[in-house]
Amino acid sequence: MPDPAYRVARAVARRVAQDGALTVPFDIERVASAHAVLVTDEIPTRADTIVLHAAAPGERPRIVLDASLEEAHERRRFAVAHSLGHVLLGWHPLGMPCDVSTRPHELPVTVHDLVEGEANAFARELTMPEAWIASFDALDRPAALMRHVAERSGMAVMPAARAVSLLLGPGFVWVVSDGWGRVLDAGRSPGTQVCPPRAGEELDTPRWARFAAERHRDEHAGCGIAVWRFDRSADASLPLDRTARSVAGDIADDLGLGSDGAEALVARVDGIAGWANEQLGTASLDGMRRVLDARARSLPELAEVAAHPEFGELVTAKATELVAKRLAR
Ligand SMILES: [Zn+2]
Repeated sequence: MPDPAYRVARAVARRVAQDGALTVPFDIERVASAHAVLVTDEIPTRADTIVLHAAAPGERPRIVLDASLEEAHERRRFAVAHSLGHVLLGWHPLGMPCDVSTRPHELPVTVHDLVEGEANAFARELTMPEAWIASFDALDRPAALMRHVAERSGMAVMPAARAVSLLLGPGFVWVVSDGWGRVLDAGRSPGTQVCPPRAGEELDTPRWARFAAERHRDEHAGCGIAVWRFDRSADASLPLDRTARSVAGDIADDLGLGSDGAEALVARVDGIAGWANEQLGTASLDGMRRVLDARARSLPELAEVAAHPEFGELVTAKATELVAKRLAR
């Protein structure tokens, strides 16, 4: 089941690969040089790269790569591909420093993150194309496939794991951990409700493995790769995303509103969300949350609901659902 998110960014990446007759692995710096001037310099701040407008009309934009990346080849390759995304996705504002080591957000927290997510999706599809990954016919051994994709493409294992996971069916959670068992990055396949562990956490492997219907392990460059598949029967034992509907149901229960009351509350929140969506246009998740929160609190008939301890969670869940729809483009 291909992930529908960032459809446009990935289509542009496929076009670049097709036009250049690129086969993995290829020289990403040569490809990027056709569209931009690559410069290595010291970027003040912790950024890996920054894309700047052309110095003069008619010239190409500049991709400035931090000097520290000369020692980090995989990271530099990803940074170049990410920056080429900013150049070719014409609606991206230039001049913003990028840190490609930060975990690509599955949902945009701000408009800036939406743009960063698109540049990452472009970079993954260009350097590790979906069709190329599928051609190995090894989705039944996802951890080994993640290692193989990293080795063959010359990319780090984290973006390789993310690229592979997008091709897996629902229910898969993947984790890349360091030699001390700390989570470096984690994610899940499309349609999975289980929330993966967070980067920086100590990985509690037995707890995850215990509920898994499938367990896969491998290693790459000193990092552990774990992939688990969970059946719906594991849902009760693992952290899950909550939908606005399920939170509203809980609140309605607590307030003794009954099932009709829960439906009415869901409808009311949907109505407010539609209104907030129109007010905000291209909103950030935070902006959406603030507008929803203020609007719901201003309505006397929702006073009791707004005072409930889970009201904040309801607003966040609804805002996330609204913003997530924008990712589908
Ligand atoms: Zn960026």
